[in-house]
Amino acid sequence: MIQLKNIDKFYDAKFQRTFVLKGVNLEVKQGEFVTIMGPSGAGKSTILNIIGLLDEPSAGEYYFFDQPAHKIKEKQKVQFHRTHVGFIFQAFHLIDELNVYENIETPLIYRGIKGKERKALVADLLDRFNIVAKRGLFPSQLSGGQQQLVAIARAIVGGPKLLLADEPTGNLHSEQGEMIMKLLKKLNEEGMTIIQVTHNEKYADYGSRIIQLEDGLIRQDYQLEDSELNM
Ligand code: ADP
Ligand code: ADP
Repeated sequence: MIQLKNIDKFYDAKFQRTFVLKGVNLEVKQGEFVTIMGPSGAGKSTILNIIGLLDEPSAGEYYFFDQPAHKIKEKQKVQFHRTHVGFIFQAFHLIDELNVYENIETPLIYRGIKGKERKALVADLLDRFNIVAKRGLFPSQLSGGQQQLVAIARAIVGGPKLLLADEPTGNLHSEQGEMIMKLLKKLNEEGMTIIQVTHNEKYADYGSRIIQLEDGLIRQDYQLEDSELNM
């Protein structure tokens, strides 16, 4: 599904070039739940952003379902975002002025999906995530865990094949963090490919594979023993 070939990312200042990623090679198959770990500044968010086409590699190739994603033009990236990937962040990034229902509905409006179908898709997620009663509330009226639930609903309502999560539990207390991780695991079991970045070792176990990144290099890459992909 995802193939990164010799990806470099660097920033040039006057007399020096700073490498954030140094020739990263990575393949992710459909159905995997990959956790990228590593110290702050290792380049974790940068990899995720390159995969989600929020950032561009300085060199190297990126194939998404065998298509050269590194060649996608700026204008077509919007289309890529709308149809192929969902993104969630540490800070949720919900729209404060919209209520729960409207936040989840937003990507469907951008995709031009008609009212009746929108209603059905949003209602289905409110139901599945057990937040029907919260549909009229605004983000400021929700706990962090509930906000992340809504952000996940918004990220997947359009049916992407890939969910990218940057420190999804970074702002949550452990109980809420676990609730979110269990939900991600469930989504993965239902077929969603997930790549997450986390600092927290205990949340890495929910996935099927761990990648350790250090100084822009993959130092370790292994499957978790009890993951279904190994059975
Ligand atoms: P991000 O860099 O993912 O957007 P922030 O800007 O909120 O996240 O994080 C600020 C700094 O804190 C960054 O250097 C980030 O790597 C670090 N950081 C984020 N989450 C954690 C965490 N759970 N534990 C330790 N450091 C963290
Ligand atoms: P992580 O997610 O592992 O904490 P990031 O991918 O967020 O790491 O960042 C990796 C490195 O890239 C950091 O050291 C950061 O300072 C550097 N970096 C990010 N953006 C820029 C920029 N515009 N110019 C220079 N360095 C940058």
